[in-house]
Amino acid sequence: MLKGSCNCGAVRYQVTGPAQGPSLCHCGQCRKQSGHVWSSAYVPDTALTITQDQGLKWYASSDAAKRGFCGICGSFLFWKMNSEDSTSFSLGSIDGPTGTTVEKHIFVADKGDYYVISDDLSQH
Ligand SMILES: [Zn+2]
Repeated sequence: MLKGSCNCGAVRYQVTGPAQGPSLCHCGQCRKQSGHVWSSAYVPDTALTITQDQGLKWYASSDAAKRGFCGICGSFLFWKMNSEDSTSFSLGSIDGPTGTTVEKHIFVADKGDYYVISDDLSQH
């Protein structure tokens, strides 16, 4: 089981089961929301339990998806496609080791011009 939290602790969650599809997203929305590239993995909604939601806010970033963050400290924690029964969580918000290694870059066509991708992971 993994445990995650925001920077101030007003949002806490637990993940059971393997984290799937660990990736780095370069899209403009993820860069805006996180300040840079967003690292995440996803699990079925049944494997995600939010244990402290005092600070949790959801931002509808489009008609299709929403982004969960802490309204107190600003940590960007979740991304959820409304039509899918899974949720992505930020690997940076996990407390302690994640036991996961990022496998790929996504939305590379939207990446910023201020950095280079210098690893050998696949790019989509
Ligand atoms: Zn917080």
